[in-house]
Amino acid sequence: MEIRSEKVLYGSIFRHISQRYDMDVFLWGEDLINKQLYIFAGKIKKLPEYDAFAKRLVNCGLVVVDPVRRKITCHPVRYDGQEEAVYIDEKNFQAWWPLLKKSIRRGIRMAEQNGAECGIRVPEDLVSLHFLQRETSVPVLKNDRIVYKAKELSLEEKRLNAARQSALDQPKNVYFYAKNRGCVHDRQCEQIKEIRLDEFTGSDRFPEGRVYCPHCARQLFLRIGCAPVTKAIPVCSRIFTDYGVKTSQIGRFVMEHGMKFHADSLSELTVRCGEDTWIIKTGKKGLKLRHNNYIRISPTERYITEGFHDQGLKEHTSMYQMLTYIAGYSWQKHLAAERTEAEASKVKEMEKPVFLAETAAEKASLWRRLAAYIKGLFCG
Ligand SMILES: [Zn+2]
Repeated sequence: MEIRSEKVLYGSIFRHISQRYDMDVFLWGEDLINKQLYIFAGKIKKLPEYDAFAKRLVNCGLVVVDPVRRKITCHPVRYDGQEEAVYIDEKNFQAWWPLLKKSIRRGIRMAEQNGAECGIRVPEDLVSLHFLQRETSVPVLKNDRIVYKAKELSLEEKRLNAARQSALDQPKNVYFYAKNRGCVHDRQCEQIKEIRLDEFTGSDRFPEGRVYCPHCARQLFLRIGCAPVTKAIPVCSRIFTDYGVKTSQIGRFVMEHGMKFHADSLSELTVRCGEDTWIIKTGKKGLKLRHNNYIRISPTERYITEGFHDQGLKEHTSMYQMLTYIAGYSWQKHLAAERTEAEASKVKEMEKPVFLAETAAEKASLWRRLAAYIKGLFCG
C-alpha cells in the first residue's frame, strides 16, 4: 500500500490554519528525517555557543498531526536551516513527541518507498538530548518521554554530591549558589541543578555582590518571610499575586523590615512586624486591616493582649498600602504621633478663647454702632 504524504492528506486543513501563523518556514514530521531535533530546557539563549548559531535561527511552525482526531496543530520552534537543526523546548517536546514520532515514521517509510535518502532508522535517532545533560543525571527517552536517570558517580563525585545534599538539608541555609559566580537561588529553584557539584554551596547569609535569581526570588523572599512554616508559602504567594504585590515589594518588606507572614487560607493573612501583629482580611467587600489589641499601662507603656481591633483604614486601601502602613508602624511612632496631635489640640485650645473674645468684642462693637445709629435716628 502506498504511503501518502501528510502534506497531501491534511493540505486543505493546513492551508486554513497556517494563515494564523506568522512563520518563516513550516516543517512537518515527514520533513524531519534528515534533520536533528535538539531538546533544551529553559531559555534557548542560555545554550552553550548560542551566539554562534543565533543569527541563523528562524521562526518555524512545526506541524503536528493527530490522525485519530483528524486534527493538525502548529507549534512555534526555532530552526537553523544551514545545520538542519530544530530546537524544541523540553516541555513542548514531551507534549508533541508521541504524535510527531508517528509522522516521522511515516516519513521514513515514504523515503524507503521512494528510494530517497534517509539518515535514520527510527524516529528516536533524530533526537539529541545533549543539552539536557546534568551533573548528577542523564536524560533518556523512555516510553515516549524524557526521564532522568541517576549518573554512575565516581568516589569524588559521590563525596561532592553528599556535600551538596547536606548543604540542602541544613535548615538554616537559605541561599544557594555557585561559589564563584551566578545568581543566588532558593532551595527549590530548578536552576540549582545546573550548578557544578564542586561549586555548589549553601549559606544563611546573602553572598556579597551577587543578585537574586529572577526565577525564584519571590519564592525565596516568601520562604524567609514564612519561616519556619513552609506550607504557608504557596498560600501567601497566591494572596500576594491576587492583590498585585510585586516580588521587589515582598523583598523589601521581608529583607528590610523583617516582616513575617502566615496564612492557612486565602481569606486572611497574618503579618508580624516588630512587636505588632496584624491581620489583613480579604474578601468581596475589600481588604480590612486589623491590629492586635493592647492595654496601656502608662502614658508611654503598653502590653499586647488577646484579640484584634479594626485599624479603620479608609476604603479601597490596597494590600501594598496596608503592608507599607504596617512597615511604617511602631509603638514609638504611635506615641510620637499622639504627642504631635496633643500639641496640635493644645494650640487649638489656646486659640479658641482668643477667637471667641474677638468675636464677642466684634459683636459688642457692632451692637454699640447699631445702638448709636438708632439713637441718632430718634435724637438727631
Ligand atoms: Zn533560581
